[in-house]
Amino acid sequence: MHSTRVRLLIILAAILTPLFLANAGPQQQDACRSYLQSPRQKLVIEPGEGVKAAWSEERRKLIAQLNAMIAPDMKAPKSVIIMLEAKGMDAYHVSHYPDGHEIHVPYQFELKGAKKHPIHSAAILAHEYGHGILAENLNLNDRFKSALALLVKPGRALKRGDRFADYLKWDSLRNEATQIVQKAQTLSDARTARAAVTTDPNDAELAATDAELKKLEARLKEIETEMDSLKVDGDEVFEMLGAFHEFFADVVAVVFYNDPKVIWRGLYSPKLEYVGMSPQEEREMFKSFTLRRFDKNVRIRDFSEEEIHVALTPVRTYAWDHYLNNPLYRAHKSKILKTVFDSIVDEVIERGKTPNITPSPAVQNQRLIDRLDANFAKLKESLALPTNQSRPKSKSRAENVH
Ligand SMILES: [Zn+2]
Repeated sequence: MHSTRVRLLIILAAILTPLFLANAGPQQQDACRSYLQSPRQKLVIEPGEGVKAAWSEERRKLIAQLNAMIAPDMKAPKSVIIMLEAKGMDAYHVSHYPDGHEIHVPYQFELKGAKKHPIHSAAILAHEYGHGILAENLNLNDRFKSALALLVKPGRALKRGDRFADYLKWDSLRNEATQIVQKAQTLSDARTARAAVTTDPNDAELAATDAELKKLEARLKEIETEMDSLKVDGDEVFEMLGAFHEFFADVVAVVFYNDPKVIWRGLYSPKLEYVGMSPQEEREMFKSFTLRRFDKNVRIRDFSEEEIHVALTPVRTYAWDHYLNNPLYRAHKSKILKTVFDSIVDEVIERGKTPNITPSPAVQNQRLIDRLDANFAKLKESLALPTNQSRPKSKSRAENVH
């Protein structure tokens, strides 16, 4: 393997962010697409094999409801394509330069021995769409753009120019590379399976797979050259934003459903079996689901998880208890999301002023909590609400049943 490719693959290994381990990639069909045209958004839902029209319609309605929730303080992504598979275990969002959003999600999560009710993958779609909402609004935010432009080029103090656009291009290429690596893994697994059952050295299926793998490798090399030419030093920023992204995307789903466990419910099943995983790896996987809950009290001082999906877990429960589930704010979902968004932007800007933009997990959590406290205090003032209203306690929280 070439060293450049190794480097890219190492980078990519850290950013593969499907909710589950990668499985078979999405297979798109040329079935009809459903469009929702509105003055502010182009939404395309592309159904995979076996996806019923009613299922696409359900998901289209969900996006419309999410758009209604985030308005007027947050903008909906302008251009979104949703690849809706009938069944599967993968869900992810990727941004395309300059402002496209692509979401892959199954209508029903299915893994060996476990099928989830489709209601749960609705919450997962809400999460993926939350990534799109955050990306869109960050890219419209001048304070964020200025801060990021300074962070992503070596030397940091060079002229600003269009460095932010370079970062977005870099990010888009990185997303494409991630998809290629996933696809290559799927093809490589298929090749191994085929090689085990054929003795024909000229087997047509093997030859076709090899040709496809070669194409992917060539594109991966091109991508690396393009990424290098942008001279963007984006890895650290990408990692930092990744943790904010996963937190915000979960907040969108949790606020929409008013359910602190909605993501965990979407991921966990007692029947799940992980093919090829050791018991230790299974335990780690289940723990990573549990840490997505917004009702788990985790002590910040002891917290050391760095993986982006769970790096901000202590903030989750704090935010739920103090703000997301607080009767003072609950009726103002758009403002809640905007306040969480502002807190993230403030924190990105402050982190950019420090030599180490990725402090320890404990510090990261405490700092974001401080930003939330400051910004929700401002929101409270702007809503002209009384200051002595009591906060809800975790234990009195009502459970939502889907
Ligand atoms: Zn995510």
